[in-house]
Amino acid sequence: MSSGATPMMAQYLALREEAGDCLLFYRMGDFFELFFDDAKKAAAILDIALTTRGEHNGAPIPMCGVPVHSAESYLARLIKGGCRVAIAEQTETPAEAKERARKEGRASKALVARDIVRFVTAGTLTEEALLEPRRANVLAAACAVRGLVGLAACDISTGRMELEECAPDRLGAALARLGASELVVPDGWELAPDGSIARSGHEFSSEGGEERLKVIHGVATLDGFGTFTRPMLAAAGGLIAYLDHVGRGALPLLLPPEARRGEATLAMDEATRASLEILESAQGGRRGSLIDAIDRCVTGAGARQLAEDLSAPLTDRSAIAERLELVEWLHDDALLREDLRAALRSLPDVGRALGRVVAGRGSPRDLGQLRDGLSGARVVADRLARRDDLPVLFETLLPDLGGHGALVDHFERALVPAPPTERGQGGYIAEGHDAALDELRRISGNARRAIAALEAKYREETGVAALKIKHNNVLGYFIEVPSRHADKLMEADSGFSHRQTMAGAMRFNALALHEEASRITEAGAHALAAEEAHFEGLVAEAVAARREIARTAAALARIDVAAGQAERAAEGGWTMPHVVEGLSLDIEGGRHPVVEAALMAQGERFVANDCRLGTHDRLWLIGGPNMGGKSTFLRQNALIVLLAQAGGFVPAKAARIGMVDRLFSRVGASDNLARGRSTFMVEMVETAAILAQASEQSFVILDEVGRGTSTYDGLALAWAVAEAVHETNRCRCLFATHYHELARLAETCEALSLHHVRAREWKGDLVLLHELAEGPADRSYGLAVARLAGVPPKVISRAKSVLEKLEKGRAETGGLAAGLGDLPLFAAAQDAREEQCDTLRDKLREMDVDALTPRDALEVLYDLKREAGTEP
Ligand code: ATP
Repeated sequence: MSSGATPMMAQYLALREEAGDCLLFYRMGDFFELFFDDAKKAAAILDIALTTRGEHNGAPIPMCGVPVHSAESYLARLIKGGCRVAIAEQTETPAEAKERARKEGRASKALVARDIVRFVTAGTLTEEALLEPRRANVLAAACAVRGLVGLAACDISTGRMELEECAPDRLGAALARLGASELVVPDGWELAPDGSIARSGHEFSSEGGEERLKVIHGVATLDGFGTFTRPMLAAAGGLIAYLDHVGRGALPLLLPPEARRGEATLAMDEATRASLEILESAQGGRRGSLIDAIDRCVTGAGARQLAEDLSAPLTDRSAIAERLELVEWLHDDALLREDLRAALRSLPDVGRALGRVVAGRGSPRDLGQLRDGLSGARVVADRLARRDDLPVLFETLLPDLGGHGALVDHFERALVPAPPTERGQGGYIAEGHDAALDELRRISGNARRAIAALEAKYREETGVAALKIKHNNVLGYFIEVPSRHADKLMEADSGFSHRQTMAGAMRFNALALHEEASRITEAGAHALAAEEAHFEGLVAEAVAARREIARTAAALARIDVAAGQAERAAEGGWTMPHVVEGLSLDIEGGRHPVVEAALMAQGERFVANDCRLGTHDRLWLIGGPNMGGKSTFLRQNALIVLLAQAGGFVPAKAARIGMVDRLFSRVGASDNLARGRSTFMVEMVETAAILAQASEQSFVILDEVGRGTSTYDGLALAWAVAEAVHETNRCRCLFATHYHELARLAETCEALSLHHVRAREWKGDLVLLHELAEGPADRSYGLAVARLAGVPPKVISRAKSVLEKLEKGRAETGGLAAGLGDLPLFAAAQDAREEQCDTLRDKLREMDVDALTPRDALEVLYDLKREAGTEP
């Protein structure tokens, strides 16, 4: 780039302006170049050289660049680094630019026109290289209409789209479920989460959204797809407007939207999802997460469906039963399962290939993938159709698998077995599909052979054995001889014309060569055009069938999930859960899938434990030593509920689960300093959410509530929380605690029972049995655990004498919980307070203020104050 306001600089700056807060990839020949701050930022993220080129306002312009042919891998790193990228392509060839300049009567060097053809953003990727095969890539939009939040989410790599409505305080939970890589919101929205992308508010109009959806799907009303509210449609409007923007008007694959009803899925808030480590472990990443321990899917689409199932377990018993029936059927028939899995394993990712094709970014290879995937689906369908004991869900999936006969036939005839990813060179349309194309190929094949024959002929004529016919993009075909043999060809009547002198070699042309070369070029151009036309035709066919193809992809994914679940169950000796009505939670011999896998890897055994909660025994208080397995027990039961309602087998001997509507987990003290909250604050915020939202049908696990503050504050809070859960929420709850004092709650709370994890001290060493038993814990063995952990003996013995003193003091004063047994229950206290308020209110109402002397008024005030001061 040269100095001052050259035309190129002017063009660059205009595009830069248009790119907004995205990095600008500016196409120059075989490179995408970045300039100024873009260059500095990209060079740092990509770890590539930062150079300079020309000057602007007297200062050198920072520059870096990436080759076009490997741009995808650089884009992937920039997107991971949190950037968005605008791609400015050359929209004409240098020759076209020259021609344009000539027509416009400009003699100056012609500047190639460039335009931003696309924005590459985390939520709008379709490229195989930029996507993780086993993870959905979600783009979401959110906004509020009349106090309700609308959410629209889509995965444009497969076209799935769903719309949802929720109360503002449930936005966090809804977003946690979606796990979107990009979120779009109206500019200035007060609920906008950090990192979301602000777009103009008028894009979020419900009328606009509705209209766009109708046009996209070619329908007069959306009723056939579901019931959509104003907030949902407004969010859809914002989402589609953003897709328009990033695709520069070319919309990606969007399937008909589904309306998500909140009550149709097991509700879990952000904290619960994080603490149960469903899709990601606490350390981040898939390793150590629930999905990592259970995913046996053999396709990326299956793994994505499994993640979706685990993120949104069901609350509809018959839908759960349908999924379970499928898993059971495949569990019981190992041969069929292996057969299906083998068939699925070889299939390409139909959904994502379709996504690329519809987005206009498809390659011949993608068409080949559609062909292979859809014909594979037909094979799977045939295999299943032979059975007469098909589960209900299979029967509904079968028609989705078996279709596409005509399309598959056409694609099979039209395409070569392994079509290339680039279509610039042609060669992907099969022989025998198009006679005219075959003829063009024959012509160019003959010409190629003729050129090979010419080489031999020219060698003989000139006597130069080193003579070669070569080809490059600039000269086309040419004859090359070493300079020392060039004299003969330079003679005037040799029939060769000189074209280029190189170091040590000279290049020539000849009439016969020129003629054959022209034949190749001409036939080649026509053949390429013919292949292009076929390509467009095949793409149009796939686009027309996109909904059916997407359904086939979804059916394959569902089968893969079921077969994978069955496989996992067979591997681990898991059982089919029964999801029933009522409020019981009856798990026999339950295990924690992640902890068990980790122990097994070290050759250790996991101790299975029962959990039996019901209406009359719905709150278990669990004590016992540190490291005894309390947290593990709490989580394993939550995970078993989650797995069961997601429609899979569970790691237990037997499980009967009264359907859970909301699942809450508050486990361990997790810092969220990034969000500016201390550990204890986080703990209390989450506890408050549970107390506010848990219903009788909910299942709550609470691990050491109150641990993050002083002993007295903590105990007091734990006490009050346990009481409230028991009296007010009345949910099923497992409550792990080190406060032995809480055991006294069993005296007043009739549906609360005491349990502990067992341990023994043997020859001065602590033996953890990881076994749950009834009754209160005797002690915490904290010092024994500290010794196990390698705390120096001096410190341990000092701690011992401190502990003895503390315990002596406690015994003398009647213990930390002295007097707590006499506390009226939470609810009783509440009643008394309300009664007091009523009395005060009555008094005030009866008072005739006009009749009061100032002195009387003062008296009344003293009275009121006295009464308000006496706590009931
Ligand atoms: P703390 O009170 O210190 O939080 P905890 O009682 O909650 O401890 P966990 O964190 O659940 O204990 O378990 C500690 C370790 O014990 C686990 O990492 C695991 O290795 C082992 N463990 C837990 N449960 C079992 C089990 N049922 N069988 C075998 N090992 C177990």
